[in-house]
Amino acid sequence: MKPKKEKNKKLSPEQCHILMEKGTEPPFTGKYLYNKEKGIYLCANCGNELFSSNEKYDSGSGWPSFWNPISKKNVKTKGDNAFLMNRTEIICSKCGSHLGHVFDDGPKPTRLRYCVNSLALNFKKEKKK
Ligand code: FE
Repeated sequence: MKPKKEKNKKLSPEQCHILMEKGTEPPFTGKYLYNKEKGIYLCANCGNELFSSNEKYDSGSGWPSFWNPISKKNVKTKGDNAFLMNRTEIICSKCGSHLGHVFDDGPKPTRLRYCVNSLALNFKKEKKK
């Protein structure tokens, strides 16, 4: 099933390639890689809440990395045998867009590394109280 592009959403060709065709942005190019602000990362296509700055960490991989999603309900994982590499794909559970891959070399407590393309995300900054 190919994810559907949301109506009225402005996505660049690069974003469409990642979200709809499982592309990957070049490492160390994403705009959220070094983002340390508090807030929520949303699906660039449908706005589903995916990751929080609380679970973001510097993995050194070149992509924004999280040790857990906001909720297991918001993010789906799927085996991906593309290029004969055994990877687990991360998918937005609401719209089916491809986000990145999850690996098992992350930090405690989950030991997971959700490796996500910046182009698949939008950042919503936490409002100051
Ligand atoms: Fe989505």
